[in-house]
Formats: sequence, C-alpha cells, structure tokens
Amino acid sequence: MAHLIDGKQFAAKLREKMTGQIASIKADHNIVPGLAVVLVGEDPASQVYVRSKGKQAKECGITSIEHKLEDTTSQEFLLNLINEMNNDPAINGILVQLPLPKHIDSAKVLEAIDPAKDVDGFHPINVGMLSTGGKGMVPCTPLGSLMMLQDYHGDLTGMTAVVVGRSNIVGKPMFNLLLQQSCTVTMAHSRTKNIEDVVRAADIVVAAVGVPELVKGDWIKPGATVIDVGINRIQLEDGKTKLVGDVHFESAQKVAGAITPVPGGVGPMTIACLLYNTMVAACRHNNVELPAA
Ligand code: NDP
Repeated sequence: MAHLIDGKQFAAKLREKMTGQIASIKADHNIVPGLAVVLVGEDPASQVYVRSKGKQAKECGITSIEHKLEDTTSQEFLLNLINEMNNDPAINGILVQLPLPKHIDSAKVLEAIDPAKDVDGFHPINVGMLSTGGKGMVPCTPLGSLMMLQDYHGDLTGMTAVVVGRSNIVGKPMFNLLLQQSCTVTMAHSRTKNIEDVVRAADIVVAAVGVPELVKGDWIKPGATVIDVGINRIQLEDGKTKLVGDVHFESAQKVAGAITPVPGGVGPMTIACLLYNTMVAACRHNNVELPAA
C-alpha cells in the first residue's frame, strides 16, 4: 500500500512554522502582514473558503480583511476598491474570490491587482515570472503540491513527471514549478493520445483535471508518487454525496509509492500557501529577510 501524504498534517505544520515567523517579523520589525479577501455574491462554496481563509490567517497572526459585496456590484466599484487596496501599505495580499458574477470581466479585475500583492499568483506578470524563473508570486495549489513532493522526496532533479490538466491556475504553473526543480516534465490534457501510457512513464503524477477518478491504478507506474489535486462531489446510489479526486484512490494506492488523499491532501495546502504568500509579500514590501522557520 502506498504511503499516505497527509496534506492536513503538513498544512498544520506549515501554519505552526509561519506563526513563529510572523511573530518574529512583528517583534523585530513591527510588521503585521495583511490579507484582503474580496467576495462578490453569495456562492455558498466561496463563502466557506473565504471564512476558512480569514480564520486561518488570524490564527497565524495575519490581519485579515474581508470585503463582502453584493452580486450586483459594478466592475467599476470593484476596480476602485482594488486600486485603494493596492495603495494601502497595511495590505500585503489581495485575493479576489473566483468565480465572479458574469457581468464582471474576471481577467480585467485580476490584472488590476498590484502583482506584488497578487497572492494567488494569477496576474500575467507573475505567470511570466514563474515561466522565466523570476521572483514573483506562485499560485497556491501548485506551490502546496510542490512543497509536499519536496518534503517526501527531497531533491526532485531528474525525475520524470506528468501533469494531467493544462489549466492556467493549476496545470501550467505546476508544469513550470516541476521544470524549475529539473524534472523532465510532460503535460497531458484532453487531446493527449494514449494518456494511460504517458502517465505510466512518470515517477511523479499530478492530476488536475476535474474528472472524478479519471486516473486509474493501472495508469500508474509502480512506486510512483501521485498528487491528486481534483475535488469532485459525486452522487452515491443511496442519494448521499461524496468528495473524490481525479485519481481512483482505491486502485491507485495499491500501485503508487505515495499518494495524497481527497479530502485531506492538496486542499488544506492551498490555504496554507495563501498565508505563506502573504507573509512572503509582507517581507518583500518592507525589504526584510524572511525569518528562518
Ligand atoms: P480546468 O477545468 O480549468 O482544467 C481541466 C484540465 O483537465 C484541462 O486542461 C483539460 O484539458 C483537462 N482534461 C479534462 N478532461 C480530461 C481528460 N479526460 N483527460 C485528460 N485531460 C483532461 O480545471 P482546474 O485546473 O481549475 O481544476 C482541476 C481540478 O482541480 C478540479 O477538480 C478542481 O476542483 C480542482 N482544484 C483543486 C484545488 C485545491 O485546492 N485542491 C484548487 C483548484 C482546482 P483541455 O485543456 O484539453 O480541455
């Protein structure tokens, strides 16, 4: 049976380390990192995420500001709010919870955020920084996935990796992060031919597809490490629902060397990395070194 990579436990350890680092930034430099989260509308899943982000931020010593706006909020109002936050020195991270209502151009909103405060790492400047090896903000889900891989393997140099899914928020940044670690990376997607064989060639498999349990155990190279980014709610025969990943966990855990569960794998690391990015941004804005953990 594969070793279980416990993202919940790893995220708790990361938050504990950050709590100490943030306390020492405050003690030595009088800096308190600030995170502003903007939620437009009443999407229940987004409300849960935003609440959870705010709670965990406060627990780590980060000031958390929430802007809850009506779903009729105009694009102009939102852009003005972002502009104000860009100019507010107490705010180091700005996150606009997606999806936004249809009348708002999400790309325009994300591009309005100061790249140095873009803790989601979605701004085109940060996308470019990641692909050219610059010092930008790295998207939270791929960053959390990489941290777990490095914690388990140490150096990833020379390993073969397949990223299944080529989205801008997960697949592409994950590809670039693994490439930066000197993995030999393949990116698979819905048009990839013989995808099972492509996946079976890899020492590391990252699945970010949004198709419940797509990657089966017999797609996996024996001993490979599997990072399951997917979060899918499926309906069971008895009418109840269940969260599953993009990997068929039961069959994959019999073949893989290590695997992340869903829930309790990548999910908790995403929020922890948002707080990490906020702490890093606060240090950069104030020209101070990130304290050792
Ligand atoms: P997108 O829908 O934006 O992208 C999905 C990608 O998967 C596309 O590149 C698509 O290919 C590819 N794909 C779809 N079907 C197949 C298939 N049958 N075979 C191979 N590739 C396929 O999804 P996201 O990247 O936003 O999210 C992926 C998953 O990760 C979702 O389950 C989402 O809920 C989850 N997620 C989890 C997060 C976390 O915190 N744990 C954070 C963000 C996402 P093509 O481009 O060719 O269409």
